[in-house]
Amino acid sequence: MREDPMTFLSIDLNALAYNYHFFKSQVKKQTKVLAVIKAFAYGHEAVAIAKRLEKEKVAYFAVAYTQEGVNLRKAGITIPILVLHPQKVDVQNCIDFQLEPNIYSFKILKVFQKFFQKVEIEQFPIHLKFNTGLNRLGFSEDDIPDLLSNFNSNTTCRIVSVFSHLVASEDLKERNFTLNQIQAYKNILEKIQKKIKYPFIKHLTNTSGTLNYPEAHFDMVRIGIGLYGYANNPKWTGQLKNVGKFQSVISQIYSVKKGESIGYNRAFIAKKETISATIPIGHADGIPRTWGNGKGFVRIAEQKAPILGNVCMDMIMVDVTGIDCKEGDRVIIFDTQKTLEELAKNTGTISYELLTAISQRVPRIIVDK
Ligand SMILES: *Cc1c(COP(=O)(O)O)cnc(C)c1O
Repeated sequence: MREDPMTFLSIDLNALAYNYHFFKSQVKKQTKVLAVIKAFAYGHEAVAIAKRLEKEKVAYFAVAYTQEGVNLRKAGITIPILVLHPQKVDVQNCIDFQLEPNIYSFKILKVFQKFFQKVEIEQFPIHLKFNTGLNRLGFSEDDIPDLLSNFNSNTTCRIVSVFSHLVASEDLKERNFTLNQIQAYKNILEKIQKKIKYPFIKHLTNTSGTLNYPEAHFDMVRIGIGLYGYANNPKWTGQLKNVGKFQSVISQIYSVKKGESIGYNRAFIAKKETISATIPIGHADGIPRTWGNGKGFVRIAEQKAPILGNVCMDMIMVDVTGIDCKEGDRVIIFDTQKTLEELAKNTGTISYELLTAISQRVPRIIVDK
């Protein structure tokens, strides 16, 4: 029998399916759900996540970069994949692997159209992105006349969807800003619909936008973080299941005398006799250095063990004084949304960053029972 690795991220596919159906239940029957599985499905193992969601009949996938889409196709994923941020070198891969590029600027549009013309491709599926306030990627409303005249004279591409992205959908203090963004998006749609006579998919909201602005679902919603159990708000997060559980073990236990130090640069000096446990995970695995010096913790035997001193590349030392434990015992970095949110809050970050930081060195174990 093969033993589990010492350190691993387990991925609960039934929790994932539960979360997907939760979002399905929040939208109208005809509204599609697009699953955002960029960055290794937010650190969770994109292929396993994609395969399960495909089985659950998700309508669309989105990735950030083309190579992420290529990997999904090579693993046998067949449903449409939107590439959110393609580059000009990516055209051939989009063709070869049936990846649908987001077209966000005239520059990228020209590159793609020229290439399609050269290889005599007609009606290649593309998506149009509009900037309505994020000021990150996309055309502006003022670009619409030029864009439409281009699409009416050049038939290499077919517009599959027109979308935008909300700036602060999780922040209810920015409600007015968001409502203005929704209106700006509607204005854009109206102008395009006057000239493009075939139907295209309209989509605007991410996880928090979908939950907080049900009036803005349009034809499709784009769900990322929510699929993994996080929704930027305890009320919604409480209705989701946690997908990833990050665990390790105790490698070695030390008893350190008063006045001795632990770890690099003597960042921790014992004020009293301290029992320290060494855990084989470090910043190379996705434990940020900002978790050092007590800001981060792990759980051993159901008790919190704060990190002592600095986080090393491959190890952390934690305080197990008063905790009944021994070498080889199980260590939980996080197994609930609450723990990860607490760690994020303590260290000035968000669930998204902590999840996507879990490095590829950490083995993923798929749980599917
Ligand atoms: C990442 C991303 C999403 C998903 O956002 P979540 O907050 O994780 O749901 C949706 N749309 C775009 C354009 C994105 O880049």
